[in-house]
Amino acid sequence: MKTVRLLLGDQLNYEHSWYGKTNDEVVYFMAEMKQETNYVKHHIQKVVAFFKSMRSFSDWLKSENHQVIYYQLDDEKNQHDLVENLKQLIKDHNIEKFEYQLPDEYRLDEQLNDFCKKIDIETEAVDTEHFLTSRTDFVAFFKGKKQMVMEYFYRDMRKKYDIMMISDKNPEGGKWNFDQSNRKKWKGSPEIPPEKNIKNSVAEIHKMIQKAEIKTIGSIDVANFPWPTNRKDSLQLLDYFCEELLVHFGDYQDAMHTEERFLFHSRLSFAMNSKMLHPKEVIETVVSFWRSNKEMIDISQVEGFVRQILGWREYMRGMYWKEMPNYRTLNKLNNTNSLPEFFWTGNTKMNCLKHAITQSLENAYAHHIQRLMITGNFALLTQMHPDEVDAWYLGIYIDAIEWVEITNTRGMSQFADGGLVATKPYVSSGSYINKMSNYCKDCVYKISKKETEDACPFNSLYWNFLDEKREHFKDNQRMNMMMSLLNKMDKTKLEALKNRAQAIIANPDDY
Ligand code: FAD
Ligand code: SF4
Repeated sequence: MKTVRLLLGDQLNYEHSWYGKTNDEVVYFMAEMKQETNYVKHHIQKVVAFFKSMRSFSDWLKSENHQVIYYQLDDEKNQHDLVENLKQLIKDHNIEKFEYQLPDEYRLDEQLNDFCKKIDIETEAVDTEHFLTSRTDFVAFFKGKKQMVMEYFYRDMRKKYDIMMISDKNPEGGKWNFDQSNRKKWKGSPEIPPEKNIKNSVAEIHKMIQKAEIKTIGSIDVANFPWPTNRKDSLQLLDYFCEELLVHFGDYQDAMHTEERFLFHSRLSFAMNSKMLHPKEVIETVVSFWRSNKEMIDISQVEGFVRQILGWREYMRGMYWKEMPNYRTLNKLNNTNSLPEFFWTGNTKMNCLKHAITQSLENAYAHHIQRLMITGNFALLTQMHPDEVDAWYLGIYIDAIEWVEITNTRGMSQFADGGLVATKPYVSSGSYINKMSNYCKDCVYKISKKETEDACPFNSLYWNFLDEKREHFKDNQRMNMMMSLLNKMDKTKLEALKNRAQAIIANPDDY
């Protein structure tokens, strides 16, 4: 039966069972479509990375003797709409069966479900064989439980996959979680190894994107593109992480520094989210490297890394499929403000935001704590609308795909889900930023000051936020200490803090 198999841009799983044998009756279909470039304004490096990786994947399929139909962005047959492209292809090639891998985004899932209902040929959806949990495992795990606490889910995953376990119940190292050890500030040492040298040319793809007038943000070095766009480069990046970065990963996971953008972070998220690397192979490679180098690498570095992938990554995916489509409209704190212009330029005097945003525009990357405690913290404290915050995160980061972006942004960072993902909002005054970075040293604002014109804006924004949203937190035990400090604060002092905060919220671009 003549069959077309659709492959979406984030379904580049080289190890999928589909490719085990060739079949003359099967043709794979991939397309670079405006439908995918234009639903939000993306970073140029993100669009380039996906197209380049898709082309590498298509070349590999052909080299394995599979038949591939690939529409480039400028292909005259390309209608830039998934459904229109599929309809035409089925007609032109007398296709009798349509097969696809289950999409990870709700939007595409809906589109393909709908398409299958309307066409009159046989259809079949198969698993992507990428994740360690199915779409519904999460619901089954938390059934009957009051709160969906990540830590319990993570422990269950450790047991289920027998990762770093001594016996059924006992984790290696005697503890499940070494998070407390992952809180060091980086002060110039230990030395950070040079960036992994992936330098692909992407000039041709970049030119084509410009010609098609796709609107993008951020900058790109087309001669030295630093992201992995095939399996070989992805595996090399993984090895590099094990050999050079793992040794200090956990210790400096939360650190931030003006001169070092990546510190000891792996930058594997794009390779994993596009499925060029399997999460299990990443975890197993890292754990196995640690086992052979235990005298050099402490368990806390490895457990911190495993938790992010086996725990948080799978947890976010489960939460996404449990809560969508409602999740994308949640705004439990009723925030309505607009993102300031400086989120698109980095043009602000606040040194932490200037660095985190400029770096995001230059690299399509910021690490977790920059996303959470710098940009996310500011967006929440200034009460920006989660729709706008989501659109920014979905566009700017190379690894941003809705299932993991929205749960992190709307959930973990903006508390717009009212506490499904995070048990309390991730907000802080400037003191946390000062503790974990060197940003405050050269800032025009004074970290030690609170209400004056030269005071760190985060200091007044923090108390203003707690005061304005106090109704939302009155039953949240984890907020008790901060709310009680707020309640004890001198009224005149609080008034002065609120005045300063409201001036910042009214005109954030002036700061
Ligand atoms: P490392 O620090 O080296 O961590 C290793 C891996 O762990 C990552 O590659 C990632 O796969 C996984 N991981 C770590 N934290 C998380 C997390 N909270 N959720 C899911 N996986 C995690 N991650 C995305 O992949 N896509 C996004 O669109 C995204 N948006 C985010 C938005 C906000 C507001 C926040 C606070 C976090 C977001 N994250 C997102 C999570 C995290 O910031 C990135 O996964 C990480 O920064 C990627 O860089 P890395 O590969 O160097 O990660
Ligand atoms: Fe950011 Fe405040 Fe520190 Fe300046 S002083 S870098 S605004 S936290």
